[in-house]
Amino acid sequence: MLDEKLDDIYSEVLRRNPAEPEFHQAVREVLGSVGPVLSKSPNYASQKIIQRICEPERQIIFRVPWQDDHGDVHINRGYRVEFNSALGPYKGGLRFHPSVSLGTVKFLGFEQIFKNALTGMPIGGGKGGADFDPKGRSEDEIMRFCQSFMTELYRHLGEYTDVPAGDIGVGTREIGWMFGQYKRITNRYESGTLTGKGLAWGGALVRPEATGYGAVFFLQEMMKVQGRSVDGRTCVVSGAGNVAINAIAKLEQLGGTVVACSDSQGYVYDPDGIHLPTLREVKEVERKTLEAYAERRPNSQHHVRGNIWEVPCEIALPCATQNELNASDAARLVANGCLAVAEGANMPTTPDGIEILRQGGVLFGPGKAANAGGVATSALEMQQNAARDSWSFSKTEAKLAEIMSSIHEQCAATAEAYGRPGDYVLGANIAGFVKVAEAMCALGLI
Ligand code: GLU
Repeated sequence: MLDEKLDDIYSEVLRRNPAEPEFHQAVREVLGSVGPVLSKSPNYASQKIIQRICEPERQIIFRVPWQDDHGDVHINRGYRVEFNSALGPYKGGLRFHPSVSLGTVKFLGFEQIFKNALTGMPIGGGKGGADFDPKGRSEDEIMRFCQSFMTELYRHLGEYTDVPAGDIGVGTREIGWMFGQYKRITNRYESGTLTGKGLAWGGALVRPEATGYGAVFFLQEMMKVQGRSVDGRTCVVSGAGNVAINAIAKLEQLGGTVVACSDSQGYVYDPDGIHLPTLREVKEVERKTLEAYAERRPNSQHHVRGNIWEVPCEIALPCATQNELNASDAARLVANGCLAVAEGANMPTTPDGIEILRQGGVLFGPGKAANAGGVATSALEMQQNAARDSWSFSKTEAKLAEIMSSIHEQCAATAEAYGRPGDYVLGANIAGFVKVAEAMCALGLI
C-alpha cells in the first residue's frame, strides 16, 4: 500500500503514461520504498522530486529504415529515453528486440537512474533500443540496421551528453557497427561515446564479463552475511546470453554447479553442470538454440518450452528478461529449498514473486543492485577512454568486486537504517533515490 500522497503521484503517472505496464511496475516498486524518506526530507516533496524523477528529461523516437538482403524495405522504430542527468551524462544500454516499445525503454531507463546512482560513478540514467528482431537476420542486414539506427541517434550522443552500451540483442559486434557509423558521420574518434567496445578499438577488459560476474559478487556478499558461500551449491541460471554465460562462468569458478540455463525455446538440464565451452560455441559462435547444446552433451535434456524454475536449486539467477519469474515460480523455488535469488536481468521477478520469496526467507538481490556491475564497468571503460589508458584484467575485476561490495554495503546499511534489515529492495531503492534526489535539489529547478 502506498500512502495517500504517493498514491496520488502514482495515479498521475498512470494517467500520463497509458499502456506502459512495465514502466508502471518499475515506478510502483520505487514509490513503494521511498515513503519513509519523504517524511525525513520535506524538501523532496516541495521540490516535487518524485514527480520530476518520473518524467524523462527527453524522449527521442525515430524512424529506422533499412533494406534486407533481397532489397525489401523495412521500417523499425528507434528510441532513446534520456531519463535523468543529475549525476552525469545519460548512461544505459540499447535493446534490439521485437517486444521493445516506449514503455519497455522507459521502465529500463527508470531503473537505470537508481542502478547507476548505486554504482557511485558519475553517470545519469537512460536507455534506448528498437523493435528490430535480429533473429534470423544476416550479418549484413544487422550491420545495415545498426548504421541506419546510428545515422539518427548520433546527434544526441557524446561523452558528456549520452553514452549508450549494449543490452538484449546488442553486443560488441553491434556496438562496433554503431561506433563505426558514429565515427564516420562525426569524423571524430570519440571512444567515450559508446561502451562495450571491442578491446582493439577502445574497449575495456572485464566489460563483457561484468554484468554476470557482478551479479555473482553481489550474491556472494548476501550469502556471506549469513555465513554461507556458493561453493558446492546447485544453481540455476535463466537465459543463455552474455549475462547468463558470464554468471555461469563465475558460479562455476566459485565451486557452484549450474545445472540449467534457458533461451526463448526452452531450457536445458545438465546434471553434470553446464559445460561452458559447449554453451559458448552454441550461443556465441553459432548463435543456435540450446537444442544444439543438448545434442552435444548426452547426459543433458532439452525441455522445449519448459519452465526452468521447476529445476530444484539452492541459488537462482534470473538472467533472461523482465517478468520471467512469477509468483508460482517463486513458490516453487521456496518449496525446493532455494536460499538466494540475485537478478542478473532487469526486473525479472514480478512484484508478487518478490513478495513470495521474501515471505519464504529467500535472500533477494534486486536487479538495480545485483546487475549494476555491467554499467559500473562501462563507467570504468569511460574512465580509461578519457585517460587514454587501459587497465589489466585483474585490476579491473578487483575494482568491479569492490564496487559490488560497496553497493551491497549501501543497500544493507540503508535497509538496516530504515528498520528493515535484509530488505535489499528497500535498501537499493532508497539509497539510489536519495543520491539522485540530493543532486536534483542542489541543481535547482531544471
Ligand atoms: N544494459 C546494461 C544494463 O542494464 C548495461 C548498460 C551500460 O553499460 O551502459 O545496465
